Amino acid sequence: MFSIPIDRTLPRMPQLITSLPGPRARALIERDRAVTSPSYTRSYPLVAARGEGCVIEDVDGNVFLDLTAGIAVTATGHAHPLVVEAIQQQAARLLHMSGTDFYYEPMVELAESLAARAPFPQSGEDTRARVFFTNSGAESIEGALKLARYYTGRSRVVSFLGGFHGRTYGAMSLTGSKTVQRQGFGPLLPGITHIPYGTHSSLDDLEEKLFPTVLPPEEVAEIIVEPIQGEGGYIVPEEGFLERIRQICDRHQILMIVDEVQSGMGRTGKLFALAHWGIVPDIITLAKGIASGLPLGAILSRPELMTWPPGSHATTFGGNPVACAAANTTLRLLEAGLMDNARQMGEELQAGLTQLTRRFERVSLPRGKGLMVAIDFLDADGNLDWDLRDRIVDQAFYRGLLLLGCGKAAIRFCPPLVIESDQIQVALKILAELLEKI
Ligand code: PLP
Repeated sequence: MFSIPIDRTLPRMPQLITSLPGPRARALIERDRAVTSPSYTRSYPLVAARGEGCVIEDVDGNVFLDLTAGIAVTATGHAHPLVVEAIQQQAARLLHMSGTDFYYEPMVELAESLAARAPFPQSGEDTRARVFFTNSGAESIEGALKLARYYTGRSRVVSFLGGFHGRTYGAMSLTGSKTVQRQGFGPLLPGITHIPYGTHSSLDDLEEKLFPTVLPPEEVAEIIVEPIQGEGGYIVPEEGFLERIRQICDRHQILMIVDEVQSGMGRTGKLFALAHWGIVPDIITLAKGIASGLPLGAILSRPELMTWPPGSHATTFGGNPVACAAANTTLRLLEAGLMDNARQMGEELQAGLTQLTRRFERVSLPRGKGLMVAIDFLDADGNLDWDLRDRIVDQAFYRGLLLLGCGKAAIRFCPPLVIESDQIQVALKILAELLEKI
């Protein structure tokens, strides 16, 4: 069902035919440099022209194995033929009508599908989850924050150091990732307390030190948490951490918002990563993989929370019909085998990376779930070594392998969920050869 196009035109493995960057790539990068924002962070000179499954062809005809999925987005692989077909058919029928003011079927269908799969207590028609569609992860976070404040009548928020939630003002204020992301942009949203991620001792401090002194829990609207921290380094929390947040929220009538923008939509082998822990949140935020590359996000909430009246929150483009059509097909493909593939391939990837740690002491053991996996790079004394990480990411490109960093000194592996065993083995081989040279 989810296999790569039958009329495949690109090789499935890296194939470099020019020196890198090639002449067309160099010319495009020159043009780009003159007119685009210097805030972009391109670390190596990939100029993408075409994608298919797990490979990207650049403008000079070089083919790369893509373990980035365009920052964990192209869940069904690049240009999955069924997704492309759904997009083409919908585009020919209706490109836009704004779902906040009008109705159309692809949006209703997607809302029904997401509501049916949301992990909230549901026992009938009127207890089904509610969905608000957005264009991006940051917009989902903004909307979720507004909803939490509106519903609770409270204003404060607890979020986590290392957490990443986006670049708009609310989302940036919740983010606790890197100073460069906030320096010079203040004042940010007030009332946000960042605490360390993933450990019970952090939650001990919240309950025993912060709540009784500077952060009255009855003023806290939400605790927002990534089930596996994404940009922060693909950090899996300690056992019981997420469950305990749920308990703290229950104790103080705080809403638990789970940011599944990166970890959701099947990437970890389950539709929502929080299903690994059986957590029942109040609100879930989605984006990235939901529409296989078209801009779409969603806020899922327990039905009783969406009490905001007509006109209180809306968006022109959110829930665009073409993006919803892509998402409806994406969801079908995820459930027809891609989530299983993510689980299996993730295990193979982690097993291969574990082997690497036996040969090379400069890498840590892998962590993560499904195809959300990372390793840290270490110096000779065992400290995190971001220079080495940056060098490996860079050199991998020149070997035809596309990788992305995250955290302080980690490489994240977040390939399209269609990746196959031989492609994982080739990626591991390239990585081993690069480590060999150090
Ligand atoms: N939340 C998480 C967990 C993310 O990883 C990201 C982006 O990386 C965002 C929110 C923001 O999403 P977007 O870049 O679509 O605004």
